[in-house]
Amino acid sequence: MIPFARQPLPAELSATLAARTAQLRSSTDRYGDARKAWTSAGSTRRGLKRHLSTACIRPAFCMYCHESRGTDVDHYEPIKRDPLRTFDWHNHLLACSYCNQQAKQEVFPLDPAGRPLLLDPASDDAADHMTLASTGEFIDLTPRGAETIAVLGLNRRGELVQARYRSWRGVVRIFEQAARAETVLSVDDLEDLRFLPVVDAFHHFAHDIATGRLPLKGVRAGIVSYAQRNLTLIRALFSACRL
Ligand SMILES: [Zn+2]
Repeated sequence: MIPFARQPLPAELSATLAARTAQLRSSTDRYGDARKAWTSAGSTRRGLKRHLSTACIRPAFCMYCHESRGTDVDHYEPIKRDPLRTFDWHNHLLACSYCNQQAKQEVFPLDPAGRPLLLDPASDDAADHMTLASTGEFIDLTPRGAETIAVLGLNRRGELVQARYRSWRGVVRIFEQAARAETVLSVDDLEDLRFLPVVDAFHHFAHDIATGRLPLKGVRAGIVSYAQRNLTLIRALFSACRL
């Protein structure tokens, strides 16, 4: 899960969302009407999907698991919990059908103070709440990380764990070669990673350098010190490459 910057919507789409919300506000069956309105709003959904697809750091991929294609406009806060957020742009995320329809559904755990526990990729950095082990599994660092891993099934889905394992190995290998040769990395050096769902692993790798967690992942000391010396460059590459 990579943080993404939510951009303002075009004025016409924004006005459509506001009009739909105003209609729901006067409804006596907000949940039922919100469901019907969302189902019938095909062109609005397509507009939102188009806009979300271009905002992803890995275009058109699921903002929760980063492995599958983003096919659905997901409601971060489920319609059932707050029907008035059905057409709220700040409640829309691009998700794969598994994350949206099978894993998350209408689950929305809260802490004792009523705050959401599920991480929101539009406002949270998952690397603050979970860390990627070299096995490809996520390890929770906070209760929000634990709930997010559980709700989205991030460690239950074998194909996700395997993909993250390969991605982590791919990232470490690139840095191993650069450290051995003492060369300065460029976006071109990352070309081999292009076909891996690597961006999540790269994000966690960079976070691990900054927090000093990298040695705990079994990464050799030479690679760790190279990465530490090049942290600014690595962060710049991460922003530039959009793998
Ligand atoms: Zn997904």
